[in-house]
Amino acid sequence: QAKEKGRNTFHFYTPELHLRAHDTLTLEASLRKAIERDQLCLHFQPQFSLTRRRPVGLEALVRWEHPELGLISPDRFIPLAEETGLIVPIGEWVLRTACRHHREWLKMGMRPMRVAVNLSRRQFRQANLIEMIGAILDETGLPPEYLELEITESSIMNDVGSAIATMRALREMGVHLAIDDFGSGYSSLSCLKQFPISKLKIDRSFVRDLTLGGENAAITQAIIALARSLGLEVVAEGIESKDQLRYLKKRGCHHGQGFLFSRPLPAAGLAEMAQDWIPRFTF
Ligand code: C2E
Ligand code: CA
Ligand code: CA
Ligand code: CA
Repeated sequence: QAKEKGRNTFHFYTPELHLRAHDTLTLEASLRKAIERDQLCLHFQPQFSLTRRRPVGLEALVRWEHPELGLISPDRFIPLAEETGLIVPIGEWVLRTACRHHREWLKMGMRPMRVAVNLSRRQFRQANLIEMIGAILDETGLPPEYLELEITESSIMNDVGSAIATMRALREMGVHLAIDDFGSGYSSLSCLKQFPISKLKIDRSFVRDLTLGGENAAITQAIIALARSLGLEVVAEGIESKDQLRYLKKRGCHHGQGFLFSRPLPAAGLAEMAQDWIPRFTF
């Protein structure tokens, strides 16, 4: 049956919807316990310099190993964590764990590079964010210049003034900032030059059909040119083919990340692998 809700909008109560609501509740309850039950883990995906063909960074990506449901993608539980506020403890766990691993790898003699951690909108707005990050850097001993935080345009744009203040405080600590999924949100180009950022990451949706020409190729070229003219590093994510790689390199994109180079990898054994981490192919 349908229940009228305003003009032209109907809410349908179907068994599927019911089931989904129930699922979400169950999922939320188990997500609450995921940290203490040690079900979260991080994978790390390398970023490579396209000109020098060497690794320049690692992005930490969270995974949830659910005992019954198996591996749950962050696309499924991060939005839920964001809605329920669970992103605060989860985000803190991610930061601490990424910094701890990275400190260990650098100590083992891994080539100096940054570790990038995703910050969701709610985390970026968290009142004690600066203190929390400072405490984690102290505790793990990771020098701040080795940490990069990825924030999205939408986290910044709903209150530009306070976002700039937060970004400045982080930058003053020595932490680097990158704008994630650039081009997919609405950021104002006039704001961009006020942001104390180091890097733009071109959204995967533009890279996907790059070599077909058309709009996405034009947008990608524009983002590369914009980043370069502002003195920012530019990273393309989601590179899957050599054609995409050649295209990006030719247009001056600095760095790349994607399945062509490597999938996100578990922490165990990563440092050993990074020793001779040169893409197997020439480009
Ligand atoms: P993102 O930050 O845009 O991360 C990149 C996503 O693209 C990752 O998915 C990665 O595995 C995937 N990817 C990388 N290269 C390729 C490629 O060549 N082809 C394709 N098809 N995909 C590629 P993942 O790990 O499933 O993460 C999805 C999203 O979940 C992330 O998107 C990010 O928004 C969020 N996320 C992941 N970990 C965290 C976290 O620790 N905190 C927060 N707040 N969000 C996270
Ligand atoms: Ca990211
Ligand atoms: Ca991204
Ligand atoms: Ca994304």
